[in-house]
Amino acid sequence: TTIEDWARSEKFHDSFLLSKDYILDAVANHSASLGLPDVAVSESQGKFLNLLARSIGAKRILEIGTLAGFSAIQFARAVPDDGNVTTLELDPLHAKVASENFERAGVAKKITLLVGRAADSLVALDPEKLFDLVFIDADKLSNVIYYTEAKRLLRSGGIIIVDNAVYDGKVADLEFNDDWALGVRELLAVMKDDKEVEAVTIPTVGARGFDGFIYAIRK
Ligand code: SAM
Repeated sequence: TTIEDWARSEKFHDSFLLSKDYILDAVANHSASLGLPDVAVSESQGKFLNLLARSIGAKRILEIGTLAGFSAIQFARAVPDDGNVTTLELDPLHAKVASENFERAGVAKKITLLVGRAADSLVALDPEKLFDLVFIDADKLSNVIYYTEAKRLLRSGGIIIVDNAVYDGKVADLEFNDDWALGVRELLAVMKDDKEVEAVTIPTVGARGFDGFIYAIRK
């Protein structure tokens, strides 16, 4: 099968299980019209993240890699009114578009957007205010830094989700060594010996190709 088949399959399932989301459509259009890269999670992946967050009753969520705010909006919808999503973005244009999208989606009050290198923003976050869920979705070579910081900032029983962990199978192809593949492989090597988490990779196929999430629970 090809990516067209996967995309068609995802759309078919979405047509039963997802209702039309005018806000997220507007977010995607706003992002595309300004030439931002088309690398947000898919609609069904976004919904999956929303359901995951709700299934653990998450109140505080940390996201690394905001882009136009597509996944952050799904997280903001998942947390209660007194909850918070802290999302970290390097690129000022992405951050500006995301802020506009948060307003548009009516979730701006629940979101704290920190602009700058995520590694710097993370160090400044207060470990007294632990998160329930951390979503890692930025520059892949920094995955180990983000993972280490995520554990520092996560409550016991909290969840870490790492996007793009399969990369078209290239992570498992040791002949292939770009930053993305190396960044995921380094993270896997660190997690292998990490007694503080239990984790698994869930591969996915769909409109976003062949990829996957690492899903980890902090003990
Ligand atoms: N989570 C978003 C979604 O699904 O809607 C997509 C995030 S996109 C794949 C990755 C984002 O990480 C980009 O907007 C990029 O500018 C940002 N990024 C890259 N390097 C970064 C860094 N060092 N610190 C913070 N953000 C970074």
